[in-house]
Amino acid sequence: MSSELRRPPGTFDVLPTDSAAWEGLLVCFARTVESAGYGLILTPTFEDLAVFQRVGEATDIVRKEMYDFEDKGGRHVALRPEMTASVVRAFIEHHPPVPWKSWSAGSNFRFERPQAGRYREFHQLDIEAIGSADPDLDVEVIALGLEFYAAAGVTRVELLLNSLGDSTCRPAYRELLLAYLEEHRSGLCEDHRARLEDNPLRVLDCKKPACQKVVKGAPRQLDHLCEPCAAHFARVRAGLEALGIDYTIDTRLVRGLDYYTRTTFEYAGLALESAQNAVGGGGRYDGLVASMGGPDTPAIGFALGVERTLLAVEAEGGTARLTGGRGLDVFVVDFAGGDAGRDLTAALRGAGLRADRAYDGRSPKAQFRLADRSGARLALVVGPDEAAAGTVGVKDLLGDAEQVTVDRDEVVAEVRRRLGPPVRTGSS
Ligand code: AMP
Repeated sequence: MSSELRRPPGTFDVLPTDSAAWEGLLVCFARTVESAGYGLILTPTFEDLAVFQRVGEATDIVRKEMYDFEDKGGRHVALRPEMTASVVRAFIEHHPPVPWKSWSAGSNFRFERPQAGRYREFHQLDIEAIGSADPDLDVEVIALGLEFYAAAGVTRVELLLNSLGDSTCRPAYRELLLAYLEEHRSGLCEDHRARLEDNPLRVLDCKKPACQKVVKGAPRQLDHLCEPCAAHFARVRAGLEALGIDYTIDTRLVRGLDYYTRTTFEYAGLALESAQNAVGGGGRYDGLVASMGGPDTPAIGFALGVERTLLAVEAEGGTARLTGGRGLDVFVVDFAGGDAGRDLTAALRGAGLRADRAYDGRSPKAQFRLADRSGARLALVVGPDEAAAGTVGVKDLLGDAEQVTVDRDEVVAEVRRRLGPPVRTGSS
């Protein structure tokens, strides 16, 4: 295959049956957040460039990594690099009553250097709660992320927590930080030395050893919160503690976008390598709706990385839990040559069972191979004898019990009896 016909670097295909874990994760997420009143929202995968410029002109995600281009109508558009901007744009456009709680799942695009756990097209699970400044909502959002991880089988998650203040206390802190960093400018990494003024807060989470050394002595936003921000943060901490949720205060947690205010948090998957162990994160963005032209509206949300969450699920050995109950129930092996196999498959599907069959008149041996490969629990066998007698052979594909023969009319009940109660994926 010529190289331009292969998938682009930093992207991937998810094939059956690997996709079962994706499906399980999505179901698990939907169930978790819908139980707290979040409804599904769908927005376009691309937006006018301006929508994303508003969320962080001084950030790498917007400045360097965005897939933006002029479309055939001469419009400057961009593939979404994150979910929040589109949801906020939709909120402003449709002005639904607040509080407005939505969830979404989809692709994001960032032109990054591809590596394990870092892709150019990746997927996020997201919730956004728009229209309330209540710190108890911060607790709800943070707890929902942890609840989802637990249901998905990711138990080793560290919650990192910080407050970035608001438009009252952040500007003064920014000046304080900038003054400190300017004093230590020569010790910073090359990139931050050159463009320190753009976004001094980003120095705090720079991974380069030089910046990390300087940051050790830097003033901390948490020590410079205004009274309302401090009270908000105290209430968030108390709410988490009331729920028995452990957290680690991380004063360097500023996150990658400009819009965050007050509570910011990140989930670290401890089963993963520390460089790519951020499985998700989020925070308040009380100023974003207004900065995008909407009414002054506080909000909070998070985005969880699907690929990294699945890596964490795998590292913790929980993939089977996500995929459990997703395979076929039965596979019809038909070598009678008439209509019996076709009609039996249709009847099984009609009864709500997950059924597949072989085509093309393959040999019994080839059909049994397909049945094994299909992952079905049971094979239903229709040979000439069964077709003539109106019966079906039932064979357990997982154990080595002998095949038994049941009446055609009894087969659905027999299959149900053998399968036992249905398995709910990701349920806790
Ligand atoms: P962010 O929008 O940068 O806060 O990212 C939220 C989550 O999305 C991160 O914690 C990661 O799990 C995931 N993520 C971000 N960028 C990538 C990427 N390039 N490839 C894979 N996952 C990513």
